Amino acid sequence: MRRILENLFRVQELDSAIRDLEERLAGVPADLAAIDSGVEAADRELSRIREKRQAQEKSRRALEQQVEDAGQAVKKHQRQVYEVKTNKEYTAMLHEIEGGKRRVSELEERILAMMEEAEGLAEAERLAALAAEEVRREAEAKRCRLQSRSGEIESKLAGATAGRQAVLDELPPDILAVYRRISRGRNGLAVVPMVGGACGGCFANLPTKLTVEVHGMEELITCEACGRILVWKPEGGPAPAGEDGPEN
Ligand SMILES: [Zn+2]
Repeated sequence: MRRILENLFRVQELDSAIRDLEERLAGVPADLAAIDSGVEAADRELSRIREKRQAQEKSRRALEQQVEDAGQAVKKHQRQVYEVKTNKEYTAMLHEIEGGKRRVSELEERILAMMEEAEGLAEAERLAALAAEEVRREAEAKRCRLQSRSGEIESKLAGATAGRQAVLDELPPDILAVYRRISRGRNGLAVVPMVGGACGGCFANLPTKLTVEVHGMEELITCEACGRILVWKPEGGPAPAGEDGPEN
């Protein structure tokens, strides 16, 4: 019986390790998606600034065209001023010319302000491009690390699965059926060590008689509170194989 109980505990360790490894593998797609969305966010920010700068450049060119048109109109009126017949027409023409000149200088001021703003936008675009590049580089490194980590997890998983099968092959089917039933009902934890006279699963104190029996390892003893199979493990025993501690 001792051999069976030890094997049961070993199956439990491997089942827990396999479950842990599977959970970690299941998290990989989400980690990859988070990396991708980081890259997308940086690209979006770059596009946003670039589009803003391009739109600003477009409206500046439109203003430059307006300056050109207004300047041409002033020149035209300056030529026509010599052809007017009356004082009234002359005054009106001068008024037109003055108005045109004012408009040109107002537009030129706006263009100057926009040119300064354009410098700021160009700098922002340059910084956003650098940031996006940096995010992309980091993402590539993260993907590599993630890939090699999931490779490690997969190979540990294969090792643990093979190890479990070897132990399962040694267990009597009726004992295995009991293990599976308890495992289903107890969230995957069916075999626990006795810890200081208490159940290592639910921490209920065990009657002394039961602790003696568990210690003997000659019978399949279950916890009266949670129904888990109790085994005796000397403290400071060998670390469970197949798992070498948490990663990261
Ligand atoms: Zn218990």
